[in-house]
Amino acid sequence: MIPVTKSFFPPLEEYNSYLQKIWSNQWLTNNGEFYKDLVSKLTSYLGVNHIIPMTNGTLPIQIALNAFGKEGEIITTPFSYVATTASIVWEKCRPVFVDIHPEYLTIDESKIEEAITDKTTCILATHVYGNPCDVEAIQAIASKYNLKVIYDAAHCFGVMYKGQSIFNYGDVSTCSFHATKLFHTGEGGALFCQNEAIHHEMNYRHNFGHHGKLEYHGLGINAKMSELQAAMGLTVLPYMGKIISAREKICTIYNQNLDFNVVKPLKLRANTGWNFSYYPILFKDEKSLLLVENALNKENIFPRRYFFPSLSDLPYISKTRVPFAEDISKRVMCLPLYFGLQKSDIQRVCNIINNNHY
Ligand SMILES: *Cc1c(COP(=O)(O)O)cnc(C)c1O
Repeated sequence: MIPVTKSFFPPLEEYNSYLQKIWSNQWLTNNGEFYKDLVSKLTSYLGVNHIIPMTNGTLPIQIALNAFGKEGEIITTPFSYVATTASIVWEKCRPVFVDIHPEYLTIDESKIEEAITDKTTCILATHVYGNPCDVEAIQAIASKYNLKVIYDAAHCFGVMYKGQSIFNYGDVSTCSFHATKLFHTGEGGALFCQNEAIHHEMNYRHNFGHHGKLEYHGLGINAKMSELQAAMGLTVLPYMGKIISAREKICTIYNQNLDFNVVKPLKLRANTGWNFSYYPILFKDEKSLLLVENALNKENIFPRRYFFPSLSDLPYISKTRVPFAEDISKRVMCLPLYFGLQKSDIQRVCNIINNNHY
């Protein structure tokens, strides 16, 4: 069976040696040795200012929205994972969908301004498949209207834009370290920010608002990463170079073997140092996608319709028309891409795609 992705499993002995230290430290969570080590290693690996590792990649979005959203309107993209929209609704804010750019698939910055009202508090945009939004244009709009910018950068581990980490853009960026993501801690995620005051605020908020044992800075929740998760991160991190270069090779084989008269690849924004996190292809229409999906499934190959449906179609959302997102979500599919995927299997996938079209 060839799934769309497989979790990377580092050598068990290496994880075990961390477990042994955890047992001898007798310390499982709350700012432990390995949590602190992961903070310092990720800060330098990624080239970021502040990172707060958390339990998953959804809580940092919620925590940022809880601080900045003020139960107002959040300008957001319909083309993302459900966590983006669900966090907005969960934090009692209202998602206002702005359609996506038909080639980059990120929020169309030229349509943001017309969606702003006096209730707008934030822009929450996703760097889809690690492809950066137009961060400069978005920052200019946010500054003009005094809005906060939060990036769902769940796909962006290691992505560079104009020579620095993509996590350094916006007031807050978030990442997911879920088992299926490029870098993982089993479950996990992180919040990134540049500003010292925001870092303080978010750090309190992710630990119940505790200020020492007896005092509270303000409202908080529990999003703390445990030593078990941090140890997984420390075990996986040294393999990231190998993982990313293996994925780059796979993407090159797809690029060389797919017939781009039949399907279209992702268009990356200029000045992006990409991380090879996903290999999405766009079909002519949904019918063509379903034909290929069916043919692949028969060969025990399981790509994923990611993202489908458009988030504007969620059952708890009042309908808005976002024609590009609705159209693209129906005809986009992510192909198998993981460390260890064999060349012959990639070629098989390409042949099936190239040979099954109307
Ligand atoms: C995976 C993902 C999330 C959620 O991250 P979790 O770690 O699973 O909570 C949020 N947004 C996007 C775009 C994702 O792909």
